[in-house]
Amino acid sequence: MGTKVKKETPLMKQYNAIKAKYPDALLLFRVGDFYETFGHDAIKASKILDIVLTKRGNGSESETALAGFPHHSLNTYLPKLVKAGQRVAICDQLEDPKMTKTIVKRGVTELVTPGVALNDDILSTKSNNFLAAVYFGRTLTGVSFLDISTGEFLVTQGTIDYIDKLLQNFSPSEVLVPKPEKKYFKETFGEEWHTFFLEDWVFHEDFSQEILQKHFQVKTMKGFGVEDLYDGTVAAGAILHYLNETQHRRLRHINKLQRIHEEAYVWMDRFTIRNLELYASHNLNAVTLIDVIDKTLSPMGGRLLKRWMAFPLIDKEQINLRHEVVSYFLEEPSLLHQLQTYIKQICDIERLISKVATQKINPREVVMLKNALEAVVPIKSLLENTNSKSLKNIGGQLLECREVRERINGTLNEEAPVNILKGNTISSDFSSELKELRSLAFSSKEYLDAMLQRETERTGITSLKIASNNVFGYYIEVRNTHKDKVPAEWVRKQTLVNAERYITEELKEYEAKILGAEDRIQAIEQQLFSELVQWLGNYIESVQINAAKIAMLDNLCGFAQLAKENNYVRPVLIEGHSLKIVGGRHPVIEKQLPHNEPFISNDVYLDRESQQIIMITGPNMSGKSAILRQTALIVLMAQMGSYVPADTVEMDVVDKIFTRVGASDNISMGESTFMVEMNETASILNNISDRSLVLLDEIGRGTSTYDGISIAWAISEYLHEHPAHAKTLFATHYHELNEMTETFERIKNYNVSVKELKDKVLFLRKLVPGGSEHSFGIHVAKMAGMPQQVIKRANSILKQLEKSHSSEELTNKVRNLHDDMQLSFFNLDDPLLERIKDEIVNTDINTLTPVEALMKLNEIKRMLQKQKRA
Ligand code: ADP
Ligand code: MG
Repeated sequence: MGTKVKKETPLMKQYNAIKAKYPDALLLFRVGDFYETFGHDAIKASKILDIVLTKRGNGSESETALAGFPHHSLNTYLPKLVKAGQRVAICDQLEDPKMTKTIVKRGVTELVTPGVALNDDILSTKSNNFLAAVYFGRTLTGVSFLDISTGEFLVTQGTIDYIDKLLQNFSPSEVLVPKPEKKYFKETFGEEWHTFFLEDWVFHEDFSQEILQKHFQVKTMKGFGVEDLYDGTVAAGAILHYLNETQHRRLRHINKLQRIHEEAYVWMDRFTIRNLELYASHNLNAVTLIDVIDKTLSPMGGRLLKRWMAFPLIDKEQINLRHEVVSYFLEEPSLLHQLQTYIKQICDIERLISKVATQKINPREVVMLKNALEAVVPIKSLLENTNSKSLKNIGGQLLECREVRERINGTLNEEAPVNILKGNTISSDFSSELKELRSLAFSSKEYLDAMLQRETERTGITSLKIASNNVFGYYIEVRNTHKDKVPAEWVRKQTLVNAERYITEELKEYEAKILGAEDRIQAIEQQLFSELVQWLGNYIESVQINAAKIAMLDNLCGFAQLAKENNYVRPVLIEGHSLKIVGGRHPVIEKQLPHNEPFISNDVYLDRESQQIIMITGPNMSGKSAILRQTALIVLMAQMGSYVPADTVEMDVVDKIFTRVGASDNISMGESTFMVEMNETASILNNISDRSLVLLDEIGRGTSTYDGISIAWAISEYLHEHPAHAKTLFATHYHELNEMTETFERIKNYNVSVKELKDKVLFLRKLVPGGSEHSFGIHVAKMAGMPQQVIKRANSILKQLEKSHSSEELTNKVRNLHDDMQLSFFNLDDPLLERIKDEIVNTDINTLTPVEALMKLNEIKRMLQKQKRA
């Protein structure tokens, strides 16, 4: 008594059962011509899609919120849900409702998540859409990336730093992580990722080996050269498992697992990628490097360019091959132009062939695929007839795909529609049955006109009309005034206010024939089209090869175009670790300046012997950061295979680029932020090599002046003393650092020159040898329009300060430290050893940052070295 059993309609019972299987997805439930959402899903959907929220079973116990949209609007609404971060389960009717008397069978046919999307409205043409999986192994971390829309499947493993960098490069839309690792992942890689947590057992070696071998139909993964990537393959296995879970089972286009060879590419960590604003910027409207250098004409080319940017080459020979092609194009402008004309005609064949594999391609897209393949033919012959070995090579690898083009041409109408139900997909010449049926269907109007005329004459009714509706099919309509003239054999079907509708034997027969023809046409078209798509499945690999080669060619053409438009030069690759840029420019800033403001080019020379570290001083806004960044960008572009914005560049390859930027002036930093900055800087010091390029921009700024100077000093000293002798640019407004050249032979001072006019500072933006005499804060005050008296007073205070302590005192302090040591001799009851011992004993390791530890260690080393020499 009193307990009410909740009554469920059969439909809701079915819904609840399916929903229970996909608790964390928003379920789109197909009911008739609508996709419906219920309960919490409905509330979410109505908000995201701005559709009406209503109630089902009003007032009853099973009352629930309801929101829906017409099924044909799926392509409009689905991307909005996915972009809002929803996982969307699409539940369709699995049988024809007409064929069943009970409730229609339903099931989830696809689970669309941000990382697993095939819909063009979710994808963006010039970007990959990666799903990633991360597996934390015992010592290394495995990672795998998959773009289901292009079939690219990549794997590697390495340190946390390396995985972090890769996440930045690939910026996956979704990351799969083992459930127990939820917290650790967020702590390690940040909150910015869209994560999904999978059960721990998915990340298991046996499981992943099995699922990978099954997918690729191989007995071992050796053929892919990934068998030693234990942690990486575990991540790759998790990705395949997830595809299966999300009902993606037609995956013939995912036909290889590629290893990312980290050692073949320039290493840039996450700070560098961000700081150089390669693909993105903190500032939403900022122009990034990719915006400026992307001259590609095909979607595949655009995506490959991003990859080339993430993975600049280290091998000189490979880099030179790219430069040679660019140079060839610049000498053969008409070849370049012709190639570009054809490349423009090539649509996204990489994604289209993936749609063949997943059987989601529509008739119009198949025609587009054919037209793109047609444009490959002249490209192939142009390339094969050049004198460039590399281009001949690319030409030789392009495939004509003749059978594919011929078969599509013979099967489909050139004007084939997007939706096959619209008809006219299959060419009449392809099927004689189709031809006959079509002529029957198309002749219907003539036939009916003839019938109308005949019947009008026979009955003498002048206002006869023949039409059809969904209920009765074809009928003859007679206005009431002529009712008495209707022949006896006509059967009345409907009575309207002013007219009666009849059917006749002839109409009935005719209708059966027409309707039969239309149904039959539809069935034949669907059958033949699906056979065509099935057959195209044999050419997945061929089209993928063409896509890859066209992407590469597109990029090389793009580099030539870029060089031509912007006056870039070919960098000369030399031996010997040095970097010599003459007349270097910042590729992005030079495009952004107003017309009356020329970009001032600058020379930078760095090597390991005489000029390893350059201290760049100069007031705020003088152009220090620009010089640092342009140096890195020029090196990066050169190693991507591009020409560079400079007059001449001679350089040896760089293997790692590190960038660190001190927190900006206007951010007031707490102690912890400063610590973070120091930790980040420390990680450079642990990873530098003799080929590295290090850019330090105002490091140490986020703390008090003395701390800042000390830190900056210590880092510079460390870089100088480190056997790698890594090339370094250090921008700073601490002119005190200029003192370092006196002690450290490979540190050189430069400044970005300014000219002080009467009431303002003129930025010359030229990097010239020599340090700066005094602080620059006062310049800024001048620029900001501070009253003269204030500036004057500031100047005199500054002079006093400079006399009394500051730089001299500081440098003396540092020097004394070393001089003290020189006095002692090396013996067992040596006071120096005593001191070192005391130092170590009194050090609290728990509060020591890596930089401090390094500084301490270095200090001790120097003490001992001096002792030895003395
Ligand atoms: P700093 O790091 O010294 O504060 P920035 O490098 O940020 O200065 O440069 C400030 C601004 O000056 C840049 O945003 C850019 O507009 C302009 N600028 C920098 N370098 C040049 C140059 N070589 N030629 C012309 N304008 C420049
Ligand atoms: Mg700056």
